[in-house]
Amino acid sequence: MNKDVIKTVDQLKVYLNTMKVDSDLKSDIIEGLAQNSMSLTITHHVLNLIDWNNPSTDPIRKQFLPLHSEYLPSHPQSRIDSLSEKKQEVSSGLIHRYPNKLLFLSTNYCPTYCAFCTRSYTVSNDTEFLKKSKLEEAFKTRVNNLVKYLKSNPNISDIVISGGDIASASTSMIDIILSAIINIQTLKTVRLATRTLLFNPDIFLPKTQLFELITKYSSRFKSQGIELSIQCHFNHANEISTTSQEATNSLFNSGVKIRNQTVLLNGVNSSHEAQKELIHKLISSNIEPYYVYQMDMVTNAEHFRTSLKTCIDISKSLTGLFPGFHLPRFIVDLPFGGGKRSVYEYDFYDDKYGVYWFRSPAISDDKIYFYCDPLKYLNAHIQEQWIRKKSISAIYNLD
Ligand SMILES: *Cc1c(COP(=O)(O)O)cnc(C)c1O
Ligand code: SF4
Repeated sequence: MNKDVIKTVDQLKVYLNTMKVDSDLKSDIIEGLAQNSMSLTITHHVLNLIDWNNPSTDPIRKQFLPLHSEYLPSHPQSRIDSLSEKKQEVSSGLIHRYPNKLLFLSTNYCPTYCAFCTRSYTVSNDTEFLKKSKLEEAFKTRVNNLVKYLKSNPNISDIVISGGDIASASTSMIDIILSAIINIQTLKTVRLATRTLLFNPDIFLPKTQLFELITKYSSRFKSQGIELSIQCHFNHANEISTTSQEATNSLFNSGVKIRNQTVLLNGVNSSHEAQKELIHKLISSNIEPYYVYQMDMVTNAEHFRTSLKTCIDISKSLTGLFPGFHLPRFIVDLPFGGGKRSVYEYDFYDDKYGVYWFRSPAISDDKIYFYCDPLKYLNAHIQEQWIRKKSISAIYNLD
């Protein structure tokens, strides 16, 4: 398996030479790596999905090998842990934000790293300028804590097991988690979050250890009245290879529901056509389009962000083109832990400073949350104010 993964700059250079990537673009890619918040790890499967005849516009290249020349300065209000997950962590890797739902971070690793990762504060190895906050406790201790937490909070009926990527953990680790929670009767839904149906779909094919494990647990959970599902992450139709489809169709035929989450990324899938094509391909691969996320205000990923209006406009343009149950929900996950809201649910939009204000009653009765558009959508004078004043409280004289 290791020989299918590129982890060093030298290995990547060899690959780029084989693909006859021109030398300017090659240097731009290599310099881009030095700026990336994520360490270098990319499967050959992903590299081979890139159209190396048109690499500068390729939607897959952009996500995993951003160019030095593509990076933009972060919005002053961006944060490495933009969702404030650390503040809502009740024990190592256990994030409790919503009353009835729990998020378990099983691992810090993924088989390939996305340059826009919202969890860059903890996922991947350290990079030159970003020391990661790693999961502190040993895996078994964390699973024990999870079970204790679920037992003492019987109102929690849903758990998302994520990371990192659950499929980068060994199947025995997944086995340990699932066997630990299968008898917790207050659970109704368990979701396994993974992007490996893109990164390395082979390991999800019928007869593999992982496939057998998931389908076995899916039936066992079902007989306990619990739905075990997969939550995957495809951002562009080109990512869904025939192997991915073979895996998702087989999982579906074995009774495993798969829902997709997409991140809206500037220049990758930020158009009506790209989203429409993706939804078509998801549906024909037996994957339910679940969410399209407005890109989070995460540090060092500014060039991936669009305005919130772009997201709203794409959403509006798709309504009516698909059966309603196939339409994804367009969501913004609010900075500082405000949680997910529909992009339409803001109370107020300040178009001068590009700030959307939201309430989030499920999280807090009195707090007000915000999302800021990228500075490039604002006029030069306002951009300058943001850069000088640096924070939303200074912009609005809130201190
Ligand atoms: C997204 C998320 C969930 C699951 O939310 P759904 O909207 O039900 O998919 C649970 N906990 C946390 C902390 C989350 O970020
Ligand atoms: S797969 Fe998910 S957790 Fe892993 S790098 Fe990509 S966005 Fe981050």
